[in-house]
Amino acid sequence: MNIIHLLLDILFPTPCSYCRSPIGDSGIPHFCAECCADFDSIAGPVCPRCGAPFDSPEALRASPDHLCSSCRRKLPLFDQALSVGYFEGPLREAIHQFKYRPCRSLGRPLGLWMADRIRTLSAIDMIMPVPLHAKRLRQRGFNQALLLAYRMSVRHGITLIYDNLARVRPTRPQVELTGEERIENVAGAFALRSPEKIENRHILLVDDVFTTGATMNECAAVLKNSGASQVTACTLARAL
Ligand SMILES: [Zn+2]
Ligand SMILES: [Zn+2]
Repeated sequence: MNIIHLLLDILFPTPCSYCRSPIGDSGIPHFCAECCADFDSIAGPVCPRCGAPFDSPEALRASPDHLCSSCRRKLPLFDQALSVGYFEGPLREAIHQFKYRPCRSLGRPLGLWMADRIRTLSAIDMIMPVPLHAKRLRQRGFNQALLLAYRMSVRHGITLIYDNLARVRPTRPQVELTGEERIENVAGAFALRSPEKIENRHILLVDDVFTTGATMNECAAVLKNSGASQVTACTLARAL
């Protein structure tokens, strides 16, 4: 930072993108320390399969394997899903800035948060970002899931594979759709270029937001059909 930038920063401190107070030394671009502390907001017990938070803090005390009602009705095809925080407040704003503004510098801290979330998982063979369709990639210029996956891969020394799983047909943005439409929207949208490379492997799928899990489920279906032994889905945020 040169002297003029430093002076400008002292005279006109950049406000936090969420709460507008001075950023200070949070270490995260665009967000103050207080807002960053809200990023990993999922603290209580969650469904061990899909990661849905339980209402009661005692939910898993008696039976740690207890599944949520949705998983008991129909098991997802991934083995486990986990997220850093809820898709609300400062984290929602951070994801929006990261993806659409776009502030790629947020990829590093956000990816490191996700890396921390998976530190207790063992025996992951490879990390795969949920791919964008080529047309969407050209429009946005980057795949946000790949930037997050890259950080996780570097942090834990796990191989990053970004050119095997592909989105083979364009899909509508899931946010515009209802639960049933989301499943239809992504059905058959993914394929593996080299399916033999994932046989008997534990794959960590990475994306930014988990809403109904339809995208993760469809990717997991493709991976499991080609012999993946385990699929874990990790997202930055979980929609409420
Ligand atoms: Zn703030
Ligand atoms: Zn569940």
